[in-house]
Amino acid sequence: MKSLFVPSAIAALAIVAAALQDDANLEYKSLHHRAPRPQASGSTSSTTPVTLPPPSSANTGAPSTSVSPPLTSTPPPQSTSYSFSLASTNPTAVPLSLITASQSSFPTLPLASTATVGAIPTFISGAPALPNPATISPANYPALDKPPPTDSALVQQWKEEVANSGVSIPDHAPTNPGGCLNNTAIASDPNRCWWTCTGCQDSKDITQCPDPLSWGLTYDDGPGYYTSNLLQYLDEKALKSTFFVVGSRAISFPATLQAQYMGQHQIAVHTWSHPPLTTLSNDEIIAELGWTKKVIKDVLGVTPNMMRPPFGDIDNRVRAISLAMGLTPVIWTRNAGSTFDTDDFNIHNGVTPVQKVLQNWQNILGSASTLDHGFIVLEHDLFQESVEVATGYILPDALAHNPPFKIQPVVSCLGRSLGDGYIETNNNKTNPPPNVSAGGAPAASDGDATKSGAGRQNPLNFMVVSTLIVGVSGFALGLLAMLRV
Ligand SMILES: [Zn+2]
Repeated sequence: MKSLFVPSAIAALAIVAAALQDDANLEYKSLHHRAPRPQASGSTSSTTPVTLPPPSSANTGAPSTSVSPPLTSTPPPQSTSYSFSLASTNPTAVPLSLITASQSSFPTLPLASTATVGAIPTFISGAPALPNPATISPANYPALDKPPPTDSALVQQWKEEVANSGVSIPDHAPTNPGGCLNNTAIASDPNRCWWTCTGCQDSKDITQCPDPLSWGLTYDDGPGYYTSNLLQYLDEKALKSTFFVVGSRAISFPATLQAQYMGQHQIAVHTWSHPPLTTLSNDEIIAELGWTKKVIKDVLGVTPNMMRPPFGDIDNRVRAISLAMGLTPVIWTRNAGSTFDTDDFNIHNGVTPVQKVLQNWQNILGSASTLDHGFIVLEHDLFQESVEVATGYILPDALAHNPPFKIQPVVSCLGRSLGDGYIETNNNKTNPPPNVSAGGAPAASDGDATKSGAGRQNPLNFMVVSTLIVGVSGFALGLLAMLRV
């Protein structure tokens, strides 16, 4: 915020973006392009599209570098100091100094086991046999990382199902591009209950776990090249997670998705092309969610009944459509102005130093310790850097926490079985997840956004606008780059 004197409005917004990287709204701002590094005060920013880096070599084991990482941060080159202290780190962690946007690609690890076609998941009562991932043909799905067309027969079928679901869809127009600042009337409309702008949440939103010290572990945007590295660490520590899957990535990595599922992790929906859902028409939202549900079922044999909106961008219209499609929204915890977002995603973008991510993590720990309930944190498994910080630092530190955390998938932290996370084995209408939205989060469970601060000037608002300004120029090229995944 100290750079607001910069004369160019765009430059100012870009720098505000760099200064506020821990905001939840930035979760995915640059998956498809590398955002600018924070610039010195008074400078401007530019965007440089890049491709998703492939691993340096195929499945050749753990990173060769093995040094004891420092337990205390060292100042990053941006002349900003960070302060954190970790109770434990992984002895084989990639050193912090190497976890940067410009690092070399480290090897990916092989999947612990290849799921057997036709295997019955014995850990879910009534689950169907595992399909053959070789039958997944991209030609049978929409183009990767692009909004699916809304005029296909399947989308028409899903529209009918929504119309016949008994769920009333609010007659709200899509939000304008530009985020909260470009939608001030909408943001202050209590009938919208727009979480992104105000933290307003509905009673059906899942933003926390009910039990203190319970952590609903989640990773978004995969599966990707390095998901296998994360899976191996989770296996070593007997940890289970929820993975919010992008439909396009399921096409690219069906075997990884099967390994996640057969490893008894929870699989959930995170849209097809990762748009901010409130900006879409009803039909477009249905297409994004429908195709992701379909590809996951085609790969796993089961359909998730939970979803996470990209950027946490959800209002009452998106909620209603999600629920009408059998999907309960899961976001992440907010507590007294603290957002449980590590911002790990932006290491890859060159925006957020790994030290800042670990400071964010320490702040989350501090906030979590004040809660009378458990919590959910936003992290990602798509890129190498976020997997490295998770397996090298965040998870080891969490496992050493005293008192200990109970780390588990979201559906488990809610007191439900894994089978309760899929439409084929649980009906959210007759057996919905428990209501745990009350508590420390700035919730408005009655839908009254004014109680959660709707309409007040929120620094998060700057992020939405600046994010779009910074990101839009690189988006088209980035999409093309992403097709190489
Ligand atoms: Zn995401």
